[in-house]
Amino acid sequence: MFATNAPTQPIHPDKIRSEIQALQPQLVALRRLLHQHPELGFKERLTAETIAKKLTEWKIPHQTEIAQTGIVAMIQGRKTSLRLKTLAIRADMDALPIQEANEVPYKSKHDGIMHACGHDGHVAIALMTAYYLSQHQNDFAGMVKIIFQPAEEGPGGAKPMIEAGVLTNPDVNAIIGLHLWNNLPLGTIGVRSGALMAAVELFNLKIQGKGGHGAMPHQTVDSIVVASQIVTALQTIVARNVNPIESAVVTVGQFNAGTARNVIADTASLTGTVRYFNPDLTAFFQQRIETIVAGICSSYGATYQLEYTKLYPPVVNDPQITDLVRSVATDLVETPLGVVPECQTMGGEDMSFFLQAVPGCYFFLGAANPDRSLAYPHHHPRFDFDETALATGVEMFVRCVEKFCN
Ligand SMILES: [Zn+2]
Ligand SMILES: [Zn+2]
Repeated sequence: MFATNAPTQPIHPDKIRSEIQALQPQLVALRRLLHQHPELGFKERLTAETIAKKLTEWKIPHQTEIAQTGIVAMIQGRKTSLRLKTLAIRADMDALPIQEANEVPYKSKHDGIMHACGHDGHVAIALMTAYYLSQHQNDFAGMVKIIFQPAEEGPGGAKPMIEAGVLTNPDVNAIIGLHLWNNLPLGTIGVRSGALMAAVELFNLKIQGKGGHGAMPHQTVDSIVVASQIVTALQTIVARNVNPIESAVVTVGQFNAGTARNVIADTASLTGTVRYFNPDLTAFFQQRIETIVAGICSSYGATYQLEYTKLYPPVVNDPQITDLVRSVATDLVETPLGVVPECQTMGGEDMSFFLQAVPGCYFFLGAANPDRSLAYPHHHPRFDFDETALATGVEMFVRCVEKFCN
């Protein structure tokens, strides 16, 4: 049995905005604190401590050490006689192995590690959303779970968090999340139904030829020649095998072979990555790559070892939850042009695992401001974003909660 409280009047959006705007100094302070102490995937100890300390201070129930450094906070809304809904909000916590080149007062204090993707902002937004909701528990019905997830940049913290049960007890009905996005200007929000980000697959290939004298190729199997044929043939997968209506990428990023100009290389190594949107292609690329590699190696008398990893599936947004997010975004940016549907990217994200498990929507929060030199791309040593976007992120989450849970 649920206790039945009379629903309160919906709060005026202007009031929500002004209350959230008042949190902006705290948002900036939190983000800068996190920015100075970046940590790599599954090593987010200080980050987790900072989050847990704040949640404890605000008396928000939470569980720590999920999938090593992950945290889930729970905010119970108004109780009603109706079936309660649970909305999850996901924020990733990790940084990157990059030496920060920005000269700012909040520059990274950890040598060789930097929040160069904006996940410091994601944690600040999610934390202040938790705070705001905990102060306004009567404004929504049901439950909000805030998921602080480690290791998005790899090897991936979403899957182990799901396996640890973060989407159950109570069962999560939908999930939302955002990425601060320097590919979009401040004041815009990228919202798209269906595929938003690509699947990420990786391969390592080792070609075993037969080395020998550079002047006596007839006694050898030249692994460089074999690997070169493979690099060229792999380009035909997207050009000739994938439906041209689909988007896909096959990139060979590393090619290592040889020790001297007059030595035919015994072995050659290639590494690469594959990206695509359509979940129907999940089995296709690995098969096609293996067929090409096997065929070329056999025709030249070489052998091979192929390691293939399906790291993240594509990020696919649910149409209904996306409609909800889009309507909130349209209200918030106050001009339909501020909501950008053309925001697909071949970048990947392990938010995809959450979106495979429950319907949801991942969206981009425009954060670039070239006038303030805040427009470097993600993963750049000079990456930084316009912190004005932080309060917009909180407002997006809070208003999605109120729309979903009422
Ligand atoms: Zn990133
Ligand atoms: Zn990121």
